[in-house]
Amino acid sequence: MFGEISSEQLAVDAAPGILTIDLGALAANYRALQARVGAARVAGVVKADAYGLGALRVAPALYAAGCRDFFVAHLSEARVLRPALGPDARLYVLNGLQPGAEPAAAEAGIVPVLNSLEQIERWSRLAGAQRRTLPALLQFDTGMSRLGLAPDEVEALIAAPARLEGVRVLHVMSHLASADEPDNAQNAAQLVEMQRFARAFPGVEMCFANSGGVFLGPDYHGTLVRPGIALYGGAPVAGIANPMAPVVRLEVRVIQTRAVPAGARVGYGGAHVTVGERRLATIAAGYADGVPRHLSDRGAAYLGATRLPMVGRVSMDSLTLDVTELPPGTLRLGSLVELIGPHQTLEDMASAAGTIAYEILTRLGTRYHRVYR
Ligand SMILES: *Cc1c(COP(=O)(O)O)cnc(C)c1O
Repeated sequence: MFGEISSEQLAVDAAPGILTIDLGALAANYRALQARVGAARVAGVVKADAYGLGALRVAPALYAAGCRDFFVAHLSEARVLRPALGPDARLYVLNGLQPGAEPAAAEAGIVPVLNSLEQIERWSRLAGAQRRTLPALLQFDTGMSRLGLAPDEVEALIAAPARLEGVRVLHVMSHLASADEPDNAQNAAQLVEMQRFARAFPGVEMCFANSGGVFLGPDYHGTLVRPGIALYGGAPVAGIANPMAPVVRLEVRVIQTRAVPAGARVGYGGAHVTVGERRLATIAAGYADGVPRHLSDRGAAYLGATRLPMVGRVSMDSLTLDVTELPPGTLRLGSLVELIGPHQTLEDMASAAGTIAYEILTRLGTRYHRVYR
């Protein structure tokens, strides 16, 4: 019963849950997006540790699929990825650079997104000091009021192009606020604004589309698109069948089962009280593992097609399921149930928790055993 087992097998057996990341499906999604944008290049957005899936595994897999452009949010993320990718990979920092970080970015060959006149000035000054040109993307705010040059700053820049001295602008870019809603009028309004700004930079092509933007059609593509969620199997467009291949599967282990009478209180606060006799199973994932506490008494796990409702509050390291639907003895210590997979998509879980697939992915905990396929 306690014979020798391999350390890999032990890691699987002892793990509270198994998070399977299908790098083949990731590559298939990359190729599907590439087919959709024709001649434009498809970048991989690998910020936030590739949406929680492990940037050091995901980015090289995308590189192997032909991807050469990678977006992260912070310089620190780019510096970690730089040595894991070929020298022909381009790494862009969406949030721009903090003052003083410019020489380190230039030294590592990392391309900042310049979001303000101040950032343009600092990058241009470094180029002058180093007597070379430095590459950058130039971001315009076309309607999100989040990052990028405001319209009056764009006008100021167009009026004084010398501000860009020494800066080689690879793309002009902006970000869509409502790209997952194809009927939202904000998309076309942002496109008009983007094209108006882009005309002032002849010969510089635009980089505009996130996942949803890819599906808005060729007007939105420019020469470089930047999907994130669609690569990871999330739905790029709301309200239609998800065309992307699922990348993530999450199974969690049962750590205890019990039968309780009517009137039993379940979990913190005694918030759930059983109506009749029930059979319960407690599983080894909680909010510290990224299961939203908002799923308390609302979410579910699955065994095959059988829905197993969460009862009571989600704890830090565990949560409890009502498994009365299953024949007694089906679930035992060590059994696995599905939290994300063929019976419950990322979007299913997200909508039950009142959030979005992005948040579910980026909060996946570090305690699961990760299997990359
Ligand atoms: C995160 C992000 C993306 C990727 O968005 P998805 O909706 O995941 O495709 C693209 N561009 C910018 C500026 C972003 O912040």
